[in-house]
Amino acid sequence: MAQIVYSSKINKIRSFALILIFAGILLMYGGILTKKIPWLMVTFFILGVLMVILSCVVYLWIGTLSLKAVPIMCPSCEKPTKMLGRVDACMHCKQPLTLDKDLEGKEFDEKYNTRRYSKTKKSEENQNKK
Ligand SMILES: [Zn+2]
Repeated sequence: MAQIVYSSKINKIRSFALILIFAGILLMYGGILTKKIPWLMVTFFILGVLMVILSCVVYLWIGTLSLKAVPIMCPSCEKPTKMLGRVDACMHCKQPLTLDKDLEGKEFDEKYNTRRYSKTKKSEENQNKK
């Protein structure tokens, strides 16, 4: 059975930004190749520049995200890593990590980060109080 490997969210966004930069450069290169057709060249260039700008925005966004991320020591590889949200994976060994004591020992699931989950959890807590 294939094991699903969860990669750290910061790493995921970082590789997304890298792909965007390459796509932008490729599009601009496509623009050079099609310089005989001016409107096509302009379209390629604009798209390429937009992608590069977008990836810069994504990089800035990663920067602010890593400031918000919680730095922790990974319990399994003992390297420092950063966590985003309720559950995340270690950047080095892909070890699933959680900040929520209630989720400890439970199977790792991205759904714990969704708004719906925290809502149902809150309403459960409220019911318990009554
Ligand atoms: Zn680790």
